[in-house]
Amino acid sequence: MRGAGVDGEGAADRLCPPDLRARPARTWLILGILAPLGMLVLSGLMLLDLRRDAWDKAEQTSKNLLQVIERDIARNIEIIDLSLTAVIDNLNATGVVDLDPGLRQLILFDRAATARDMGVMLVVDANGDTVIDSHALPARRINNADRAYFQAHRAQSGLGLTISRPLVSRLLGTQVIVLSRRIDRPDGSFGGIVSASLKLSYFSRLFDQIGLGRDGAINLYLRDGTRLMRHPSVEADIGANIAGAPTFERFLAQRSGSFTGQSVRDGVERYYAFTQVADFPLLLNVALSAAEIEAEWREKALVIGFAVLFLCGLTILLSLLFGRELGRRTAMQAELARLSQTDALTGLPNRRRFEEVFSRAWRTAQRTGRPAALLVADADHFKRYNDAHGHMVGDEVLKGLAEALRKSLRRPGDFAARVGGEEFVVLLPETDREGALQRAAAIHAAVAAIGVPSAGIPAGSVTVSIGLAVARGSGTMHDLYRRADTALYAAKEAGRDRTICAPVVGEVERAPEAFRLPAAAGSPVR
Ligand code: GH3
Ligand code: MG
Ligand code: MG
Repeated sequence: MRGAGVDGEGAADRLCPPDLRARPARTWLILGILAPLGMLVLSGLMLLDLRRDAWDKAEQTSKNLLQVIERDIARNIEIIDLSLTAVIDNLNATGVVDLDPGLRQLILFDRAATARDMGVMLVVDANGDTVIDSHALPARRINNADRAYFQAHRAQSGLGLTISRPLVSRLLGTQVIVLSRRIDRPDGSFGGIVSASLKLSYFSRLFDQIGLGRDGAINLYLRDGTRLMRHPSVEADIGANIAGAPTFERFLAQRSGSFTGQSVRDGVERYYAFTQVADFPLLLNVALSAAEIEAEWREKALVIGFAVLFLCGLTILLSLLFGRELGRRTAMQAELARLSQTDALTGLPNRRRFEEVFSRAWRTAQRTGRPAALLVADADHFKRYNDAHGHMVGDEVLKGLAEALRKSLRRPGDFAARVGGEEFVVLLPETDREGALQRAAAIHAAVAAIGVPSAGIPAGSVTVSIGLAVARGSGTMHDLYRRADTALYAAKEAGRDRTICAPVVGEVERAPEAFRLPAAAGSPVR
């Protein structure tokens, strides 16, 4: 099928090549999608950075807290240990044992006064009986031979300072831990112990001052895994042993450090900062709940994330709509461009389009030196159809003529247009006289087949006259058209329904030019 697209392209395509036309819309669309995606990635990175900040802050806070608490505990225990050592030293000093009990008590325990929350200091003999009591004269009579720390010292010398598990003091009735050292007799045998109790309330008071959030915790352990104190604590926490738990293994592995792990106590994921307390067999940790560290960030991230997602989604949606609209407009423009070059009645390219195509074909013919043929066809006595049957029927005949021309074309480069009321042109590039005459014969045959039975116009009654001219890359396009037009006139003169070929004359070479049909060629297309 040929006609409007006889030169193989749509009108819009010829005005603006497809790739050039599509690129801006596609570029905007891609940019409209990539830009928000980039924004999304950037926001993601920013949120990750904020999360890192939250963790850094938490890590710094817990390490500072850990240091402050560790110093306090270490200082207090050092004071108590100094007192224990002083008691042993003084007991060994000649004469102290034989002093007046009141004076002896004063000398032995004077340093202990500076320790905080110390319960009672006792000198206990090899049988576990109290001999000297820091808070009573004479010493209150109790036996501590059953205590594990007593038995440990009795069994082994050189233990140094031992710290007991939490226990209830026999003298105070409250929970304490007992710090003790062994008294060696001059011959090295077991001479008893000196002990000092430290109230657990010391730790709870110390820890209670610190707010660590709902799931935060501070723990103090003996190296054997026994928990001495926890904040916040319940009764069962004190004295519980968590030796072997993965978190505790990590506390033991290093003197100090930090890690994130799951608590064996309640399964909460926590960030642990831990340290050994001075050189004592004590492990301290400050633990912050991972969820609470991230809570504030999470809230922000949720708001920012949703806002950014919404905005990006909106931008992408708008880009898609914009792209679609742009596409629609481009298509509309293409359609308008096509319509502006198409004859509304017959659908054939119009006069303007013909002028363009003719100019281009002419330039090609000049470049290649190949012949080009031009046929000008005019309906014979067309006025009569209008007069006899009315314009509507005249229009039907015109449509039939256009269809006949279309059908008669063979090659992709062949081109037909309606350039006037009942006047048509056919351009046949690379076609010589014989070829053009064949096409003309085909046109006559196709026209002869036209009939409008409803109007009583039988096949064979419609005829056209054709003027044919061939150019060989020289002369001008106007010459070519004029010659074809003159030949058409001759065909009319000769009785119509025929083709007359213009004689080939010497043609002068001319520079390429744009072609405009002479104003007289045909009446304006309605
Ligand atoms: P000739 O054989 O000498 O060409 O005779 P003709 O009647 O075809 O020539 P003329 O130029 O006298 O008449 C052309 C007529 O074509 C006049 C006009 O009414 C008619 N015509 C032009 N355009 C249209 C159109 O779009 N539709 C219809 N129905 N008629 C048209
Ligand atoms: Mg006519
Ligand atoms: Mg005419």
